[in-house]
Parts: sequence; structure tokens; C-alpha cells
Amino acid sequence: MRALVRETTLEPGDLIYPLFLCPGEGVRRAVGSMPGVFQLSVDEAVKEAEEAARLGVGGLLLFGLPESKDERGTGAWDDDGIVQQGLRALRASAASKKLVLIGDVCLCEYTSHGHCGMIVKGRDDFEIDNDSSLDLLARTAVSQARAGADVVAPSDMMDGRVAAIRKALDAAGCAQTPILSYASKFASAFYGPFREAADSAPQFGDRKTYQMDGANLREALREIDLDIEEGADMILMKPAMPYLDVVRAARERVDVPLGAYQVSGEYSMLQAAFEKGWLDRDRAILESLMGIRRAGAGFIVTYFAKEAAKLL
Ligand SMILES: [Zn+2]
Repeated sequence: MRALVRETTLEPGDLIYPLFLCPGEGVRRAVGSMPGVFQLSVDEAVKEAEEAARLGVGGLLLFGLPESKDERGTGAWDDDGIVQQGLRALRASAASKKLVLIGDVCLCEYTSHGHCGMIVKGRDDFEIDNDSSLDLLARTAVSQARAGADVVAPSDMMDGRVAAIRKALDAAGCAQTPILSYASKFASAFYGPFREAADSAPQFGDRKTYQMDGANLREALREIDLDIEEGADMILMKPAMPYLDVVRAARERVDVPLGAYQVSGEYSMLQAAFEKGWLDRDRAILESLMGIRRAGAGFIVTYFAKEAAKLL
């Protein structure tokens, strides 16, 4: 009877599993603040993908840790960059028949300063130069699409980047590649552990000038409208748990597919409670994900993807 009258469902195919790709072979480096999460060389990532595919997980979201970093984030848009190498290897594996391969498009993992855009010297301080960042983000998206990404997912929050990426993809013959835009990404303390995983902490300042103020729901909805006008095919809300009201409001306002990202801090605080024996692991994982689905997310990016798929 409960199954018959259940209002919200949660399936392995709703879940997207993030992977952190690093150079080398046979590398599986644990991320201290995220138990169960590893930086993986491409060969290890392929094994991980095969397991995720077997479990029925819906897709992978790929982040990269480049060999070296520079001011312009060359590793992001280099055709031989780490995510591009990973995409080609995954594309060649059987797992790609069952998984949607999504490339994270941003510069912060690849820039020496750790910001998501280009830095220029302003009057008093350093500033992020929105417009010069767009070209590099567009190049990143095109090179990922050519390497085999099914979807590109810009997470940088520069203004105008969805339009710039769409134009560049179309010009490069990748008109079929959809854009999953992080349309309202809030400046959040809950990204802390990710910065260790992706080695992307800003070397100075913070990201409040380009990420959203957590106090602003209406502004978040305006940002979403703009991204859809610019050509976003799907949107991703981030973080999830502290912003479930924003997920709900967005779901009611727009009719493009919408997902939410259960970010590193949400994952790590649950893991910490599990380690202390304070929460029932299996139930808490599924409840945290069901809450995000009930708020209106069609799909969820989560580090629990494999584990939740096993439970389901
Ligand atoms: Zn970034």
C-alpha cells in the first residue's frame, strides 16, 4: 500500500556520480575530508565508471586535477587536458553506453590563483574579469564535447557564459551537445571539502563577487531565467540541503529539466555523523536524497550515488 501511494520516487538512474581525475596510472588517492571519495587516474576512473554503470547510476560528472596550473587555466581547455583524456577513455569503454558523461566546465581547478575566471588588477584590489573568461570557458566546453562529453556543465557563474558556450559549440559542429548550467550557485561554506578533492581553493580573496548571496531567492530565480534565455538546456542547483526552498521555487517557475548537487559539505557532515555512530547510515543517505527529489530536483549529483544505488 505504501508503495502504491508514494508521491516521490528515487531511482539509481536519477543519480549522477562525480569523479576527480588526476594524472598517472593506477592512482587512487583518498580525499581526507571526504571518506569514500578518491582522486583517480584515468584507468581507475574507467573501473569506477564500469561499477557505476552496473549499479544503474545515471551519469558521471567529471572534474580534473591538471599536471600543472597557470594564470589562464590552460589545463581546462587543452585538447589533451586531464578531463579530455578521461572522456576519450570513458567513451571507449562499455560503461559509456549506460552513463551520461558530463564535463564540469570551470577554470578554478586549473588556474594558479584558484579563481573561476581571469584575474586583473583593479583600482584597489584584484578583480575577476568576466568577459575575458568567457572565451576560455567556451574553448573548454568545445574541447570537452569533442573529446566525448554528452553534456557540458558550466559551474563558473560568469555572466554571459551560457550564450558564449552555446555559440562556440554550434560553430564547432557540436550543436547537439546540451548545456547543463549551474544557474544559481550560492557562495557556500559547504564547498569546503570539495576544494581539497579538486585542489581548487582560491589563493586569495573569495568567490562572493561571482557566486550568489545565500540570502537572495529572487535574485537566484533571475539568474536562472537569464541562463535559460541564453540557451541553457538544463539547470543545476547548488548546494542542495540548505537551499531546498530555492530548488522548489525554481521547479515551479521553469520547465527545463532541473537537478540539484548534494555538495561535499553535505556529504562529509553525514559521513562524520556515521563515523561517530550518531545516524543510521542507510536511512540517512536515502532520506537526504529523497528530500532533494521531493523539493523538485529531477536528478541529483551525489557522492553517495554508488552506495545509494546499492541500497535502492
Ligand atoms: Zn570554479
